[in-house]
Amino acid sequence: MKAQGPTAVLLTSMKKGKRLYSILRLKCPRCHGPGLFTNKSPFPLRELSRMPEHCAECGLKFEREPSFFYGSMYISYAYGVAVFVAVFVLVDLLLGYGIWTTVGTLAVVQLLASPWIFRLSRSTWINLFVSYDPSYSKKRLSSTSGGKGMDRKM
Ligand SMILES: [Zn+2]
Repeated sequence: MKAQGPTAVLLTSMKKGKRLYSILRLKCPRCHGPGLFTNKSPFPLRELSRMPEHCAECGLKFEREPSFFYGSMYISYAYGVAVFVAVFVLVDLLLGYGIWTTVGTLAVVQLLASPWIFRLSRSTWINLFVSYDPSYSKKRLSSTSGGKGMDRKM
C-alpha cells in the first residue's frame, strides 16, 4: 500500500502500541487488534454506532458499564470546537471571506465531519480508561492459559 497525503503518512507512521494508533485507527484499546466498530466505514449512518460487544481478539468488553459512551459526548464537543476554530481561522482570518461564506462553510464542514467526530470521540473516550497491553495482542489468552491473572506493567 502506498501512502497518499499527509493524513495517510501520519497514519502509517503511527506504531502499534501507541495510544494514538488505537484512537485514530479506531482499534481495540487493549490489544490494538480488531476495530471498535462493526462496520469499518461510517456509512450507512444507521450502522455508525454499531460496535461488537467484546473485542474478537482479547475479549475486552467495549461498553464497560451501561451508558459508558455517554461520556464521549464531552470529547465530541471538544473535537467539534476544534474543527470550528480551524475552519474559522482558515476561511475567515486567512482567506478573508465574508461572514456568510464562513458560516456556510462551518455548517457544511461540521455536518460532513460529524460521523468521524462521533467515532473518534468514542475511540478517544475508551482510550482514556483502557491502555495497550502487549500480552493481549497475540491471542495468547485463548490459546494458552485462559486466565486473566497476567502481570501488569505499571
Ligand atoms: Zn482487543
